[in-house]
Amino acid sequence: MAKAQDRIREIVARFETVCGDYLAYVADWKARTGRKALGVLPMNFPVELVQASGALPVVIQEDEDPITDGRNLIYEYYCAYSKSITDQAAKRKLDIFDSILAVDHCVALLGAFDAMRYAAPQRPVYLAQFPASMDEASSVVQVDKRLQELRVEIERITGAVIDDDALRAAIRLRNQDRQAIRQLMDMRSSGRIWLAAREMQAIVQSSMIMDTAEHLDLLSELKSLLVDCDPPSGNRVKLHLSGHFCHAPRPELYDMFEACGIAIIDDDLYTGYRFVSTDVAEEGDAMAALRDWYFNRNVKAPCSTRAQKTVDWESFLLDKLDESGAEGVIILMAKFCEPHMLYYPELRKAFHAHSVPYLLIETEHEGLALEMLRTRVESLVETIKRRRTVQVA
Ligand code: SF4
Repeated sequence: MAKAQDRIREIVARFETVCGDYLAYVADWKARTGRKALGVLPMNFPVELVQASGALPVVIQEDEDPITDGRNLIYEYYCAYSKSITDQAAKRKLDIFDSILAVDHCVALLGAFDAMRYAAPQRPVYLAQFPASMDEASSVVQVDKRLQELRVEIERITGAVIDDDALRAAIRLRNQDRQAIRQLMDMRSSGRIWLAAREMQAIVQSSMIMDTAEHLDLLSELKSLLVDCDPPSGNRVKLHLSGHFCHAPRPELYDMFEACGIAIIDDDLYTGYRFVSTDVAEEGDAMAALRDWYFNRNVKAPCSTRAQKTVDWESFLLDKLDESGAEGVIILMAKFCEPHMLYYPELRKAFHAHSVPYLLIETEHEGLALEMLRTRVESLVETIKRRRTVQVA
């Protein structure tokens, strides 16, 4: 048992190390393989296309450096993610990438994209702008077209021909990795295993960075080791974590939640369920499957950066709470994330209408007032515990 625990710690530490310095992983991977690495921007990039070319697709991460060199390239009131990636570009840290690609286009992301182009004009960048309106018949045609153009561009950048068999293999591998992560999430929320929330995040976040085969190998081993370990017992308040687009919340936040007696049993964070929510069909035309994946994703985990009449985020959240048994929600919102801020009143209305206890926490790039936040989190925990007592009585 002690040996299994040691190996569990080792594997999780590997994932955390990759997330702690993602550019070091990319540099090492390029040196090991002699292949190219392409940086991609969140949240809907079809990474399988890059993978099928033999290059490494890496979702560019926020880093912890203070914003300095990039400060004059982007508005102060843009979100932390857009400022951080601009700053990384201005400091030439992103020169490790042979190209930077995007399909999403919120205002802040477009600003960062332009700033990255300005900071390193010699590096190819490509925006294959997917439509954000999901209901129009023309959107399907547009995504098909954008995907074809993206495929040609990736072939031009990498000098490789993306053949359909390689694309299908990349889809299969990515699906396996997504499925393995979702299984771990299910095992964790049903209480069969224990993984701290920061560890679960590292597992998802590292899958945005690492070679998928390497990630899946480690993940499969981790899964087999965890089933042999008893989860700690306890009567924690079960919560759903929602929001936080494009980048990972600071792990210290999760530690604070858990120290307050919370178990995060479900989420729709980008560095959580949202990233792995949807598989790509393995049968039929692979390009059509990637197009369908884009549309299906917004049904599996609705996002306020997309507009779709037939699904909404608040109904999705209420259903998720019913399914998981979560007793409340913590909404994590990146400060100045406009698509999230504009949608928040709808979420709040739904929570009030259904008496769902919730708490909104805004996060920033620099400075996290953990002690002040702790008081608000403790008060949410107390509210939920009081409700339990009233329900029992
Ligand atoms: S969706 Fe939000 S977090 Fe992502 S780039 Fe746009 S403003 Fe920033």
